Amino acid sequence: MNEADTEIIRAVLSKEDFQFVTDEIDADVVMLNTCAIRENAHRKVYGRIHDIRHRRAGKPVTIGILGCMATNLRQDLLENKNLDIDFIAGPDSYKRLGDLIRQSGLHGEKPFDVTLSEFETYCDIYPQHKTGVNAWVAVSRGCDNFCTFCVVPYTRGRERSRSVENIVEEVRRLAIEGFKQVTLLGQNVNSYIDYSHPQQIASSPLNETPRNDAKPRDFADLLDAVSQIDGIERIRFTSPHPKDFPEKLIAVVAKNPKVCKHIHLPLQSGNTRVLEMMNRTYTQQEFLDLATKVRAMCPDIFLTTDIIVGFPTETEAEFEDTVKVVKDVQFDAAFIFKYSERKNTVASKRYPDNITEDQKKSRIVRLQEIQKEITYKKNSAYIGKTLKVLLEHGTNKLKNDFVGRTDGGHLVLLPQGNYQSGQIIDVMIISASPHALKGNVISPNPSSLQLDTNSKI
Ligand code: SF4
Repeated sequence: MNEADTEIIRAVLSKEDFQFVTDEIDADVVMLNTCAIRENAHRKVYGRIHDIRHRRAGKPVTIGILGCMATNLRQDLLENKNLDIDFIAGPDSYKRLGDLIRQSGLHGEKPFDVTLSEFETYCDIYPQHKTGVNAWVAVSRGCDNFCTFCVVPYTRGRERSRSVENIVEEVRRLAIEGFKQVTLLGQNVNSYIDYSHPQQIASSPLNETPRNDAKPRDFADLLDAVSQIDGIERIRFTSPHPKDFPEKLIAVVAKNPKVCKHIHLPLQSGNTRVLEMMNRTYTQQEFLDLATKVRAMCPDIFLTTDIIVGFPTETEAEFEDTVKVVKDVQFDAAFIFKYSERKNTVASKRYPDNITEDQKKSRIVRLQEIQKEITYKKNSAYIGKTLKVLLEHGTNKLKNDFVGRTDGGHLVLLPQGNYQSGQIIDVMIISASPHALKGNVISPNPSSLQLDTNSKI
């Protein structure tokens, strides 16, 4: 979401004739777009501010902090004399950035705007998308779920969605620009609902007309609408919540050939008591039932998850419930985190972080080992199979010339060859690791693939 926001910020500031430079050493203004989800993020940002000042060696520079950390840690940021920050803007204040930049430093001021809006979706801004195969498209902002460990509802405000027409228009332009894949974004993307809010229509330059029929359109309707656009080959979405998966949505994922067969189902915990403390609104059994239903309706699905271990008061037996769910569901991949308290969350106020670091560490290591084995076993099952791979970009880091992704989302490494990003090719999988697949091109004939020398990202 921060990458998508940065693309909005670039569009906003370009309209005001700000120019972008590639190295901060040349910039008069440096903005750090921040995240407050993980603990290390704010340490990194504090380190980066010191770095920037150090690299500038006394040459003046205006530094702004944007994003969730700006909202969540505003006071710390403004009052911390060591940080020397010039201005602050929250996620709903990017249209005011020009003013904040111009005001900063005037009469020693440190201007800030962290107001959260009920309506701002930036639907009237066409983002300056980064080049590549995939474009991020934020379809909604904010979140109403208030999971007790999460700061998002406080840093990004209440949930609001853009209209279907507004999103379709953006994706149509992206297709014309040559993007092959769009990833629809929302903090709780599958609770998307389009009421074609009159205020959104009034501020949109995209000739929307208020809809007469009052029937709201949901996320499944949005996926179907986006899939009608020629040129867009794949549609992904993140991050969904397990509570918002009606059969209608699972059926669209299963049947619409452009919608990737990948569902991220954040479990967080496999224990019903802990889930209740987290305010996740589903039980262990409900989650298992959903995973079973998804696999029954879409047998090819690539299922991934997020898990937090060591939530306050989580016992060993309750952690074993999470192990059980991981073993039962057989996720293709999992992002596993140790619980760490986030300032201003309900959990930070109600539940003391009483699980020791050693306990958290032993739980995360155990779960990661189990998941690694499952992922490796599942990835190995693709050896000898031919999969459709969307070519993404070249890479030197991985010592292979090109990487692409399968429909499900597996990273596929390809041997040296002439490739063109954006092509979808058939690849025979020859080996697998827990992190990626390796393959050989089957068709089109490898020698007919054209070299795209600009495709390294
Ligand atoms: S659904 Fe996601 S973004 Fe919303 S409160 Fe829960 S964890 Fe945070």
